Amino acid sequence: MLTQAPRGTKDVMPFDAYKWQYVESKFAEICGRFGYEEIRTPGFEHTVLFKRGVGEGTDIVQKEMYTFKDNGKRDLTLKPEGTSPVVRAFIENKLYAMTQPTKLYYNTPCYRYERPQAGRLRAFHQFGIEVFGAKDASTDAEIIHLGMTFFKEVGLKNLELRINSIGCPECRKKYIEVLKEYYAPKLGDLCGTCNERYERNPVRIIDCKSPICQEISAGAPSILDYLCDECSDHFEELKRNLDLMKTEYIIDPNIVRGLDYYSKTAFEIISRDIGAQGTVCGGGRYDGLVEEIGGPATPGVGFGLGVERLILTLEKNNIEIPKPEGLDVFIAAMGKEAVEKAVEITSELRTMGLKVDFDHLKRSLKAQFKYSDKKDSLYTMVIGDNELQKGAVTLKNMKSGEQSEIALSNIAEDIANKFDEGM
Ligand code: ATP
Ligand code: MG
Repeated sequence: MLTQAPRGTKDVMPFDAYKWQYVESKFAEICGRFGYEEIRTPGFEHTVLFKRGVGEGTDIVQKEMYTFKDNGKRDLTLKPEGTSPVVRAFIENKLYAMTQPTKLYYNTPCYRYERPQAGRLRAFHQFGIEVFGAKDASTDAEIIHLGMTFFKEVGLKNLELRINSIGCPECRKKYIEVLKEYYAPKLGDLCGTCNERYERNPVRIIDCKSPICQEISAGAPSILDYLCDECSDHFEELKRNLDLMKTEYIIDPNIVRGLDYYSKTAFEIISRDIGAQGTVCGGGRYDGLVEEIGGPATPGVGFGLGVERLILTLEKNNIEIPKPEGLDVFIAAMGKEAVEKAVEITSELRTMGLKVDFDHLKRSLKAQFKYSDKKDSLYTMVIGDNELQKGAVTLKNMKSGEQSEIALSNIAEDIANKFDEGM
């Protein structure tokens, strides 16, 4: 127990962390390019927020939440998704009273009690964006374009954008009736979960992953045939805007999303390379949510993107993620006096902004060179008794093998010059 992380959790090792830093900074940069600003919300919220915001009938609320009472007997839940907390913050901080639309992005840990498998964890991370106060489909298209731009720029190619409209509560009412009529005689063949969904949230039967349910759902009526004029126009606008943004899509009436508050646009971005957990991004419009949580009626649209699944996809596709550069200078020092000099020079060069390290373990010169090599150093500086006596150190260019001497009295300046000249 002590030395084993809880089931469904994963450490990010130092040798992998650069991948995280890369996708995080790329996402932030692209969001900035599209005019989005970052929002950070706490790791837990009042349980009632998720019950209301995600919906009582959803898998998340039914069985996936980490809910607990704190010592003050408050009923709290670890964030299972990013949208509800952002909506809560939007209302609480009265962002609706500021210039609209409000365009936000986030990067957050999420917790869900699920059966762990590849790409499915109990503690995972989501990047997400939310736009409040804009109801036109050009916004829906913009967030989709943002997601696709991000995936393309990190190097993912084998992607599919699937879009659908799930209508508004009005047109969905009629659709749900027809849907229930369709499934009623087939209930015996549907899986147990879908039998529960039939009463609670029949639309979700459509995206059940069980092969039998999928086969039955193949003949189910399509929501697209039941859209009201407004929803239908909105869907046409979405397609038109995606065309303008040169973003290809597939219309897929089976994209229904798991959350109750979605309306109109629903979409998923799927990687064809990672098997069953292929959805790397899912989102849509949720015009009723802000009001549902107690704010003024405000349209909203957004997406959530699983970071672990994204990194898994990048790895599976052998997509090269730029590795951070190694040390500028490693100082190999032998002898007490030389080590003290190394401490002094290291701190001076670090203050100047260079990436510098020295040997903390009093190893042999050979071992120090090996270490310097491991750390991808551009230069190794050697300081020993000889060098101290001469008043000059040896500087070895680790790529070319070329060696030069620099006067001890002038080290900072000489090294700075080397880096200024581009080495
Ligand atoms: P799924 O159908 O795969 O369970 P979901 O509908 O529950 O997905 P959302 O709630 O829309 O997913 O979450 C957005 C994204 O977060 C997903 O597309 C996926 O990339 C990621 N995600 C969801 N659950 C997990 C998990 N347990 N572990 C890792 N990533 C996850
Ligand atoms: Mg899920």
